[in-house]
Amino acid sequence: MNDCIFCKIAAGEIPSTTIYEDDDFRVILDLGPATKGHALILPKKHYADITEIPEDLLSRAAVLAKKIVTFMMKALPCDGYNVVQNNGEAAGQTVFHFHIHLIPRYNGDGAGVTWKPGTLTDEAKKEILEKAKDLK
Ligand code: 5GP
Ligand code: ZN
Repeated sequence: MNDCIFCKIAAGEIPSTTIYEDDDFRVILDLGPATKGHALILPKKHYADITEIPEDLLSRAAVLAKKIVTFMMKALPCDGYNVVQNNGEAAGQTVFHFHIHLIPRYNGDGAGVTWKPGTLTDEAKKEILEKAKDLK
């Protein structure tokens, strides 16, 4: 993916504020942070989203998220963490190279990683339960 900015950042071709790196991942500070310490886990290989990334790499990304959150909770310190992962334009994905947002939360920070609760209707429940029968 020659034109993918996160491929270039992950490969070290474009400078970034890297807080962690191993053979498979680079973890960088987000340029437009929701809060102080907002970081992104980037796989070094290109996968557009969660549907493309192989399961073993996805598992390791989750373990890495745990490691970094656990460390940074104490190091920053912060009061909580949102672990966010957007897929598709409708979900707010703007860079189409899989990444996980690690967003430190501070009491009263007002960061908007939230939604207005709707209502689970009987119709929606029935429809989704019916479709989920094919889930294996
Ligand atoms: P998305 O909206 O795709 O889930 O998240 C993309 C994130 O990447 C955004 O939070 C944005 O601030 C961040 N971002 C976009 N371009 C760059 C960049 O060149 N460097 C860094 N460090 N972050 C970036
Ligand atoms: Zn890429």
